[in-house]
Amino acid sequence: MSEGETPATDFSVPQMDESKSLQERIAILEERNAQLLEEMRRGEGEKRYLQSEIIRMQKEIQRLRFELERMKAPPLIIGTIKDIFGDGRVVVKSTTGPDFIVNLAEYVTKESLVVGSRVALNKQTLSVMGVLPSSIDPLVSGGELIEKPDVSYDDIGGLAAQIREIRESVEDPLLRPEVYKKVGIDPPKGVLLVGPPGTGKTLLAKAVAHQTNATFIRFVGSELVQKYIGEGARLVRELFDMAREKSPSIVFIDEIDSVGAKRLEIATSGDREVQRTLMQLLAEMDGFNPLGNVKLIGATNRPDILDDALLRPGRFDRIITIGKPDAEARVEILKIHMKRMSFSPDIRVRVVAGKCDGCSGADIRAICTESGMFAIRDGRDRVIEADFDQAIEKVLKDHIASTKAAGHMFA
Ligand code: ATP
Repeated sequence: MSEGETPATDFSVPQMDESKSLQERIAILEERNAQLLEEMRRGEGEKRYLQSEIIRMQKEIQRLRFELERMKAPPLIIGTIKDIFGDGRVVVKSTTGPDFIVNLAEYVTKESLVVGSRVALNKQTLSVMGVLPSSIDPLVSGGELIEKPDVSYDDIGGLAAQIREIRESVEDPLLRPEVYKKVGIDPPKGVLLVGPPGTGKTLLAKAVAHQTNATFIRFVGSELVQKYIGEGARLVRELFDMAREKSPSIVFIDEIDSVGAKRLEIATSGDREVQRTLMQLLAEMDGFNPLGNVKLIGATNRPDILDDALLRPGRFDRIITIGKPDAEARVEILKIHMKRMSFSPDIRVRVVAGKCDGCSGADIRAICTESGMFAIRDGRDRVIEADFDQAIEKVLKDHIASTKAAGHMFA
């Protein structure tokens, strides 16, 4: 074989086999690569999910730690700031007894405190831990607040004379103060409604509030009598603060005899607390502008035991007496309560009213409800006169039973 000549070997078949197998391997490797890429993507997705889970869990741990800390924190005492010294210390009064001079917690600024603020005190050191919002929330302390009651004068039966009186002494000063100014007299500061239970005293006060678009704030006198010294007086102060804030408003104090009973020479510490509450009430009334936007209405069924100081001119100087309704008034009250009822047209309202002798407005309402119950029991959808007869008998019987029970109790 001459130089430069390539050997005549035939490599073509093995070369083809090799390239084929290489291509196959490449294909397998590419497939594998695609699989691995897919797995990697899945793994990354899982990693991201786990990372977010870790963050969520860490937050949960933090929340639970915080909750645990909160649970372990000792309770704080509520106190009132009485004085603020220049050096940053304050005098606090708490329900634990005497007044204390204490420090402020680091995060409580002196500027956020004023004399009279409600504050939270550390149980051991009594230092001020925080300033609380003022507590004028009657719902918390057992009062009732209605922005505009939906009771109108038309819902009151048989009290025309009383409605006229209350309009003159409460409605006119609120809606037309110029009339009083022109004549040059002061309207009554407070009106006292006197009458047996269930005769419509609350109803009358609500109707005036409705007519004058005033906020109706109702408090029962006994709720103003509190356990701790000074608490009742504070409640009265807050009640009037709120009334001024929500003015025009009508403050209605039901059962005023429980705070306004005659003061006695010999008094227990409980009596003295009631007296303090009464003094605060009198002070608030004295500070009132008779032509202002806040009106006070009291209600009682024991006017005989009220302290004279409450009744003197400039305080409850208008007394409106409400008696048990007479026959004519009972007809009116019955008609009011029958308005919403479905009844047979042959009911003789006067006869029914005649049988309700001695009943109050609340009793008549109860009689209407009972008569409806008797009709339902009989499978009827309208009330007939016989239902009223049964209802009157039932309500009067219950009445006698409860009066007797009360008699036993106080005998
Ligand atoms: P208490 O002294 O027990 O608080 P009250 O005199 O304030 O009683 P209200 O609460 O005004 O009595 O009346 C109770 C219910 O009796 C009223 O919701 C009303 O349905 C009915 N009622 C009382 N008097 C009248 C009346 N004159 N006209 C219509 N309904 C009346």
